[in-house]
Amino acid sequence: MNYIQLKDVSKYWGTTKAVENLNIEIKKGEFVIFLGPSGCGKSTTLRLIAGLEEVSSGQIEIDGTNVNNTDPANRNVSMVFQSYALFPHLNVAENIIFGLKVRKVEKNERNARLVKVAEIVGLEDLLMRKPSELSGGQRQRVAIARALVNDPSIILADEPTGNLDSKTSYGIMDLFTELHNRGNTIIMVTHEEDIAAYSKR
Ligand code: ADP
Repeated sequence: MNYIQLKDVSKYWGTTKAVENLNIEIKKGEFVIFLGPSGCGKSTTLRLIAGLEEVSSGQIEIDGTNVNNTDPANRNVSMVFQSYALFPHLNVAENIIFGLKVRKVEKNERNARLVKVAEIVGLEDLLMRKPSELSGGQRQRVAIARALVNDPSIILADEPTGNLDSKTSYGIMDLFTELHNRGNTIIMVTHEEDIAAYSKR
């Protein structure tokens, strides 16, 4: 069965057609990359799946359910952005568990999840640092850990390597490959062919 399905999805802003009659079928556990030039509608498609934008027409289904009117928080997706979007005044650990605190997840559970994701992304020794004391690649690892800590079934990543040099980018791609091997369904957007090609090694 298809896990994520877009049926004739379009998104318009006035006369701008960002996405037109798009049909996509993604299976559970797939690692999918949207590759294309700037402005072709990749980010918009990702944001529509996340629920950060509403479709103009068409249907988005996740796990067999139409989610057109479902809040982002209830779609079981987590998003990673090019800009990392970390809180500068919080340390790494606090950034990672911020969403769990908001959702009033109990402290022991928060700490257990923090330890687990910090190990997966390789941040165990940096938990007390502030984002300003980290490299770009380390900041993106914090953002990925923050997405993972919610235990989402789907990870959506919008140009996650866009601000990183190529060696660091490949490190982040290795991390996504590891997450894919752990069973996550991942959709990533990039306009860089070498990044997309690297994921297919
Ligand atoms: P990509 O991710 O492939 O670079 P986008 O999905 O960001 O492309 O954008 C697709 C088109 O939609 C572009 O023409 C862009 O200018 C337009 N667009 C994106 N977001 C908005 C918005 N919030 N308002 C108006 N136009 C937008």
